[in-house]
Amino acid sequence: MHLIFGGTFDPVHHGHLRLAIELKERLGVARVALVPCHIPPHREQPGADSARRLELLKLAITGEPGLVVDDRELFRAGASFTADTLRQLRRELGEHEPLAMAVGTDAFATFDHWRDWQCIPELAHIIVVNRPGSALAPEGEPAKLLSSRRADTADQLHCQPAGLVFGVEVPLLSISATGIRSCIEQGQSPRYLLPDSVWDAIRSNGLYGAGSRKR
Ligand code: ATP
Repeated sequence: MHLIFGGTFDPVHHGHLRLAIELKERLGVARVALVPCHIPPHREQPGADSARRLELLKLAITGEPGLVVDDRELFRAGASFTADTLRQLRRELGEHEPLAMAVGTDAFATFDHWRDWQCIPELAHIIVVNRPGSALAPEGEPAKLLSSRRADTADQLHCQPAGLVFGVEVPLLSISATGIRSCIEQGQSPRYLLPDSVWDAIRSNGLYGAGSRKR
C-alpha cells in the first residue's frame, strides 16, 4: 500500500515525523511519502519558500528508510489539489495497488469543501488521525463518509485499492510549526522540537528570522 501524508511542513518537526512513523507501523506499510504542498498565492505565505521547505524535509528524513519525500505538488504550476495528486498517483500505481492518504480530524472535518472531494474515496483510502480539539459534525458529509465506508482494521485497507475510511488514534506530540516559527522569531531555541539537522539549516540560512544565536 502506498501511503501519503501531506502538509505545509513550514518547518517539518518531530510531531510530523513521529506521526509518520506511527502510521507506518500501525498500517503495515513499507514507507510513508511526505508530500509538501504548494502554497496558493491568496493564502498566507509560508515562512520559507518551497525549495527551502523541501530541503528541510530531506534533511529530516535522512537515514530513515521508512520515510520518503514526494515533491510533486511543489513543482506543479498553480494550486495543488489533493484530488489531482491522487489521480496522478493512481495512474502511476495502476488500478489495483492500495493507495491511502492520511489527514487530521481537523482537515477531514471540512473534507466536503475540498475540490472534487467526491472523487477522492474512489481514488484512495482516507486515514483520519484523531487530533484533540477537533470533532466531526454528526450530520455532516465527513461523518457520513466515515460511517458508510468505515474500515475496522488496518488489514482491510490492504485488500482493496481505495474506498475505505479508517480512523486511527495515535499519541500526538504537542508541537506545531506555528509555535516553532514564533519561538525562532523571538530569539528562543526550538531545539528538540525538530531534528538538529533541520534547526542547523534554519540557522545557517537565517530562515524564520533566525539570527546567529547559539543554541
Ligand atoms: P502550522 O502550525 O503552520 O499550521 P503544523 O505544525 O500544524 O503547521 P502542517 O504542515 O500544517 O503542520 O501539518 C501537516 C500535517 O501534520 C497535518 O495533517 C497535521 O494535522 C499534522 N500535524 C501537525 N502537527 C502535528 C503533531 N504535533 N502531531 C501529529 N500531527 C501533526
